[in-house]
Amino acid sequence: MKMAGYFRSLIGISLFLAACTVICASEKKEAPDAYTYRPGVRNTTGKNQLNEKQLKLVIESLQAKTGFTGLRFDEAGFLTLDDPQRFAGGSASARELVEKAIQGKVQLVLENHSYSTKVAFASITNNLVFINMSSKAQMEHRSVHIDFTDFGKLIGSKEVRASFDLGIVLLHEFVHGAMNLLDRVDEWEEIGECERFVNTIRKELELPERQHYVARSQTVQTPMGWTVRMAELQFARTNYKNGTLKTDEFKLNWDVSRVGTGIRETLGPPPNVVATKNNERKSTASVP
Ligand SMILES: [Zn+2]
Repeated sequence: MKMAGYFRSLIGISLFLAACTVICASEKKEAPDAYTYRPGVRNTTGKNQLNEKQLKLVIESLQAKTGFTGLRFDEAGFLTLDDPQRFAGGSASARELVEKAIQGKVQLVLENHSYSTKVAFASITNNLVFINMSSKAQMEHRSVHIDFTDFGKLIGSKEVRASFDLGIVLLHEFVHGAMNLLDRVDEWEEIGECERFVNTIRKELELPERQHYVARSQTVQTPMGWTVRMAELQFARTNYKNGTLKTDEFKLNWDVSRVGTGIRETLGPPPNVVATKNNERKSTASVP
């Protein structure tokens, strides 16, 4: 969708939102069970459990990025892979990552946080260690919060949306959970070690690569006179064409009020607020 079309559609959306009431319940942690000490990627047993449709979306999105044809959720809600040699297309780095997440030492617990303003696309919590006092078994748990509704709010070309879809964002969280790589960025480091790995996956899939970790946002005036805070991430793809290098640039935008501001993940810098000469407020939005 183009930006002007997006602003026109806002009228209908705001009428719809006015008719909705959001009820926030306090978070309830899952209780330990027979699978607490099993590593891998698991659907939560708590109130934020993914439904069948969401589990199917997770499988389809990971299948599209890895090429694995044997990904399933078992009866206990764990992601399984029947044969790592069975794949069609996809990224080798994504396959290596998903295998690590499934066979790793940590339990990554998937939680549905759709329509949450605290979760922008997805985020991962800090670790929680379970210790069985009689067997001395230990297992580190990290929860991956997913807002499935946010991905439909992205504005950009099909290619750039594929660079930041459910599959890619889940892989980003798996990089944190299974490889312990961080989003740490500073004035010399725009992308961070986690997204650098995700960019390798994008490159293998011939998708545009993310150019910076921190999403920039600014308040813009719509043709109807409203102001909207739009966030932006930039992507680029370099190809050899007729013997010369050609770089295509892509922009991915979303309305921060509809997606949410999110919470900053592991060790990122605090949001910057910069006043520009036009008196526009430029700031940052927290995304995976
Ligand atoms: Zn992250």
